[in-house]
This record gives sequence, structure tokens and C-alpha cells, in this order.
Amino acid sequence: VSATGIDAPRTVLLAGGVGGAKMAEGLAAVLPADRLSIIGNVADDQEFHGLWVSPDIDTLTYTLAGLIDRERGWGLAGDTTNALARLAALGEPAWMTLGDQDLALHIHRTRRRAAGERASTIAADVARALSVGPAILLPTDDVVQTRVRTDEGWLSFQDYFVRLRCAPEVRALAYTGAADAKPTAEALDAIARAELIVLAPSNPLVSLAPILAIAGLRQALAGSRVPRLAVSPLIGGATVKGPADRMMTALGHEASAAGIARFYAGLIDMLAIDERDGADAEAVRAAGAEPLVLPTLMKSAEDKAALARALIAAGQARRAAA
Ligand code: GDP
Ligand code: CA
Repeated sequence: VSATGIDAPRTVLLAGGVGGAKMAEGLAAVLPADRLSIIGNVADDQEFHGLWVSPDIDTLTYTLAGLIDRERGWGLAGDTTNALARLAALGEPAWMTLGDQDLALHIHRTRRRAAGERASTIAADVARALSVGPAILLPTDDVVQTRVRTDEGWLSFQDYFVRLRCAPEVRALAYTGAADAKPTAEALDAIARAELIVLAPSNPLVSLAPILAIAGLRQALAGSRVPRLAVSPLIGGATVKGPADRMMTALGHEASAAGIARFYAGLIDMLAIDERDGADAEAVRAAGAEPLVLPTLMKSAEDKAALARALIAAGQARRAAA
């Protein structure tokens, strides 16, 4: 039993950006730092102005470092965009907001990548430099990128998400590089040693699917014998923010708690669904996951910690019963 008064299982969280970071904060609040490892998403990564930008990993890192802009959910609090305005004045595209202070991280990352360092070493060093307690792990050191097919053709993820504000209908998704990507030893080791695995309420199709598309990682999760639990990113059948519900429908998945359970079939034992979706509990069970009906909207620090405690308790109960 930890200082926070709950059992502290070694926990691995799979997380995307903003939704993932909220869950990470909750778990970080109730677990000792050495009991939490977070495997983030690199498939949103893209080069801008010659710099390698890794939005989801940076959202996780800045959130856990307490530096995040809370209003937006991404970027550094209090940052300015003078450099971006100068780039625009030079005729450069400036639709991807990169703050002045944020640019330092992209410069640092790009220099080290160019020198041949592993992406995951850089991410771990950045997290340490910013005093992040939990381990931030990358699923792979290889380049994996989500591509989005719309009626105008294939787009990079940021083109679709930021430049076009998710307006085009999504016809297909691809995770380029995933088929050949090698999982990192750190991510595999964390899964092997985990006592609880949590899939954050992240976008299933573009935040967690690119991680799960790496064969070695998917197999490790599928073969794990510890409680594996996902939190639905849908509340009342709709996303809290972002295009996950529309994307699921467009790609033939049901945008509901049961649709989430089916999407993660074989990878999860339990699915936390919001109280507003309680009527879906039996459909979730029919899809092979034990439903946990809980308040899943995370606004305050207390909401996040309460959800994290409930997940840990459910995992411990399942382990005790096994
Ligand atoms: P992104 O990479 O920044 O788009 O963030 P993620 O993929 O990690 O998370 C996006 C998803 O988080 C969306 O589908 C939201 O519905 C979901 N989400 C955001 N906040 C909450 C919350 O408080 N509770 C739940 N259950 N889902 C949330
Ligand atoms: Ca993302």
C-alpha cells in the first residue's frame, strides 16, 4: 500500500495526446512515479520548418511536467508565437502553431535525431530534464506516421487534423512504417512487468491504433495475463473533443461503448464506460469486456485521480479473483 492509501500495481498506460494526458495525470497522482510507465503515440509526428515535432509525446511530457497550457490542452502555458509570425512573414506555412518556447524542444530533438540518437532516449531525457516522474516510453524508435485518405487523396495526419480542422470525411487510415516497426525494448519490458494495463480514453483510430499496429507490441498486449482495461473516449456516444466518433462511424465502427469494446477485442478484459452510457453495459459484455460503469469525464484533478483509483481498484479486484 502506497502513501496515497491504495495498492500500487506496476501500471502501463497507452496514451495519445490530450485525452491520454488527462488519464496519465490521474494515474500519476495516485501511483508512485516508479510504478507508472506511459507508452505514447508517435504517429502524429511530422516535420515542420525542418524540425521534428512530436505532438502527442510533447503533450504527455508538458502535462506531467505541469507546464501545459490548460485551456488548450497542448503547448506551453504562457508561450508566445513571435518566431511563427516571422516565419509567416517569410512566406512559410504557419498553420501548425509552434510556440517560441516550444520550439526549443523541437530544435533539441531534431539535433539529436540527426546525430543518430534513438527517439526514445531523447524522449526519456527530455522528460527527466523537465522533472517528469513516470517513464515516458515510445512504442518504437522507427518512424510510424498516420496517413488519412480523404476525397482529395492521402494527407498527413496534421494536414487533416490541424490545417483542415478535421473537416474532410475520412475514407481510410494507414499507419505507414508500422508493419516494419520494431517495438522498443523499454515498451516490451514495461508490458512484461506490468500488473495492470490501461488504454487511455484516447482516439482509438489515430492515437492507440498506430501503437497497436506494431505487431510485437500488439502481441505482447494480447498475450498479457494481467488485467487490461480501457476507458472509453465516448461519453453519451460522442467524443468529449475531437473527431473520434465521426471517424469511427465513417470507417464502419459503431461510435458507442460497444463499438469501442469490439475495436479492442482480444486486447482488453474490462472497459470503463461513462454513467451516461450505462445502457450499453450488456453490449460491452457481449463484446467480451467486463463493463465498469463510472463517471469518466475528467475535468478537475480530483476527477482524474478518482477515475485512476477506480481503475486500479477494478484491476486489483480482478487479480484477486483470478
Ligand atoms: P489527442 O491525441 O490530443 O487527440 O488526444 P487523445 O487521442 O489522447 O484523446 C482524444 C480523445 O479523448 C477524444 O476522443 C475525447 O473524447 C477523449 N476525451 C477527452 N477528455 C476526456 C475525458 O475527460 N473523459 C473521457 N472519457 N474521454 C475524454
Ligand atoms: Ca494526437
